[in-house]
Amino acid sequence: MATLREDLSRIIPDPERIITDNIDRKYLSDQLGRKQGHAEALVFTISTEEVSGVLQYAYAHGIAVTPRGAGTNLVGSTVPQKGGIILDLSRMNRILELDEDTFTVTVEPGILLRDLQAFVESKGFFYPPDPGEKEASIGGNISTNAGGMRAVKYGVTRDYVRGLELVTADGTVMTVGTKNVKDTTGLPLKHLVIGAEGTLAVITKCILRLIPKPETTVSVLVSFSDLKTGIGSVIRILRANADPVAVEFMERNVVALGESYAGIKYPETPNGAKPAESYILLSFDGSSEDVAQKVERVRRLALENGALDYLPLWDPQQAAEIWAVRGALVKAVEAVSEQEPIDLVVPIDRSEEFIRFVNELSARTGMQMISFGHAGDGNVHLCVVRGDRDEETWERELDANLTELYSRTYEIGGLISGEHGLGIAKRKYFFKETAAANVAWMNRIKDALDPRHILNDRISYIR
Ligand SMILES: Cc1cc2nc3c(=O)[nH]c(=O)nc-3n(C[C@H](O)[C@H](O)[C@H](O)COP(=O)(O)OP(=O)(O)OC[C@H]3O[C@@H](n4cnc5c(N)ncnc54)[C@H](O)[C@@H]3O)c2cc1C
Repeated sequence: MATLREDLSRIIPDPERIITDNIDRKYLSDQLGRKQGHAEALVFTISTEEVSGVLQYAYAHGIAVTPRGAGTNLVGSTVPQKGGIILDLSRMNRILELDEDTFTVTVEPGILLRDLQAFVESKGFFYPPDPGEKEASIGGNISTNAGGMRAVKYGVTRDYVRGLELVTADGTVMTVGTKNVKDTTGLPLKHLVIGAEGTLAVITKCILRLIPKPETTVSVLVSFSDLKTGIGSVIRILRANADPVAVEFMERNVVALGESYAGIKYPETPNGAKPAESYILLSFDGSSEDVAQKVERVRRLALENGALDYLPLWDPQQAAEIWAVRGALVKAVEAVSEQEPIDLVVPIDRSEEFIRFVNELSARTGMQMISFGHAGDGNVHLCVVRGDRDEETWERELDANLTELYSRTYEIGGLISGEHGLGIAKRKYFFKETAAANVAWMNRIKDALDPRHILNDRISYIR
């Protein structure tokens, strides 16, 4: 009988792209590397035909398949829990077409967000979704419906996907969506796959919507003496008709970690002012004149609402440094202690109340929780910090804290995940908080599209 390797080499001719021995541990996990799975093979496909061949083979033999982009997820969604084949798409990273007349770019899924953004911007276009990790792949961004910093003005990845080429669990190749702006032609199939964390199909081509590149972007760092005043001012800023691109909030203690991690210091508050305990980082884009007006309009508002300082970052270098600290926060906390990253979402008018609840919970249970995130869309990022707890205590206390956190999240109309997805980390809480009818629909869709349950079967919503 042929070995798995022999079978796979009939589909993937290059032996270097099939690994069956000593698979590097990073492919058995996610970005955090805490949970390890196991696999019999890791394959690097370079074409849709190869992806289709691997899936036809896996489907026929009932072998589990874990699709993988850049592996930057934080929730265990690339941990191959059922063994089988890891299907790595990172080498399918070509730009296939820039269509300047329909404002679309067609790419393979393995292209990194960083490279896509640089390419389209060099041509005068703009791809707005901007999650913190620029080394994530577009296929991964689509599969998690990644959000990020610019969602306040521009929305999330889903809003920029016009069409997809997919390979279904049994290896069938199909296209969903088109370059057209409008589409009410039957059920919106592409939207089933966006955010499905690789459980329904493998994405092999992506038609993405672009917009013209804004003339200029200016960021502003606003400091506050406490988190409450900072978050409290967000709704007023949003109501001011200044159309911010990003509204991020950060506590001083997490910024301090980010500063030492990135080797960059945030400016002090002016002489005589209290030290900052929290920050709101804003950005505006548009024509230079328009942006200058927005910056001024929000200055008055912020100062009236208790800001200690309002610092427009006209120098692009300084702005890049301030954003670099924001971008480094997850890794900065991680460098100090193991942590559980949370990305729950609450209605924006309940953010301040929710953060107050988090601080009370933290004080009551002794579990440190560092908060930052996308204030403009209620996407609260919390790092729940392990500190020196032993494994058993950490697991128990973390679970107790998460149960309370998510229960309050749902009470006030929120959701467990705004952008990271469920992976394996959040399944338990998802099942606890989600209506049985909704879970049943999700499972019926999974049963219909992947009846042998080979695609990422142990993650997300699947019972
Ligand atoms: C420092 C840091 C900051 C981050 N900030 C943000 C943020 O601001 N916003 C945000 O949304 N996320 C953020 N993330 C999380 C992560 O970067 C995103 O979830 C990202 O979209 C994952 O892309 P990836 O290519 O790494 O996918 P992977 O981690 O490889 O995979 C993620 C999921 O997608 C599936 N998948 C991947 N490619 C395909 C494909 N071609 N077809 C089908 N399924 C596929 C996988 O099976 C898995 O379920 C951050 C992560 C880090 C480390």
